[in-house]
Amino acid sequence: MELETSLNIQGVIIPYIERKSPRSKHLSLRVDYEKVTVVAPKRATAREIREFVKANQDWILAHWKKLLEMQRQIPNRPYQDGEILSVLGQAYKLKILKADQKMIALRFYHEEKIIEIRLPEGLATEYQTEAIREILEKGLKRKARDIFQTKLNTFSIQMGVSYNFFRLKEQKTRWGSCSSKGNINLNWRVILAPEQIVDYLIIHELAHLKQMNHSADFWEVVSQYCPDYAVSRQWLRVNGERLRL
Ligand SMILES: [Zn+2]
Repeated sequence: MELETSLNIQGVIIPYIERKSPRSKHLSLRVDYEKVTVVAPKRATAREIREFVKANQDWILAHWKKLLEMQRQIPNRPYQDGEILSVLGQAYKLKILKADQKMIALRFYHEEKIIEIRLPEGLATEYQTEAIREILEKGLKRKARDIFQTKLNTFSIQMGVSYNFFRLKEQKTRWGSCSSKGNINLNWRVILAPEQIVDYLIIHELAHLKQMNHSADFWEVVSQYCPDYAVSRQWLRVNGERLRL
């Protein structure tokens, strides 16, 4: 059994997962860049767990802040052969090879979870990283457009709403928007997040077709189709900055 919620420590909201394990003898605690996880023995009561978390809250907060700081310092990636890129939460391996061709080319192999990039043999080393980044962006935008479109169609039918049209955007701080005319914009970079985050975002924007605000009624609509929306929302706040090439 797993409980997903969030902690509020001195005003900082941290996604929180609680798990009971028949194998664990003591309460234990782990902080990673997405969440805090508490593993408890089967017999532990809710009160014991709550007290354990409370007793450790200063440590949790300090650790969480340290991880956030480390993430901010992640430099641009070099894009080497064998590197892993997360697309909709699936780990794709970059396969970079040189080929006797004039143009750079990219191909997804979904079953093997490989993104193959063929570089022209003559391409100078100093231009490689930028060329790879560019073609990756192009390929991911194409993929995002298809997937977002399909999901928009599926969810809009489920939710009984209809939107006007959809555009793919790139914004630094916005993930999506919905205008009063029913036009939906989605940020392509969300394709780099786990799939449940994409679903949440799409449900969020479609819910605006019922409620053009962020009122309690709006969140009620969102929660009907996305019960753990709070976790996804918080995930985006914490990890949004990392969703880039
Ligand atoms: Zn909104």
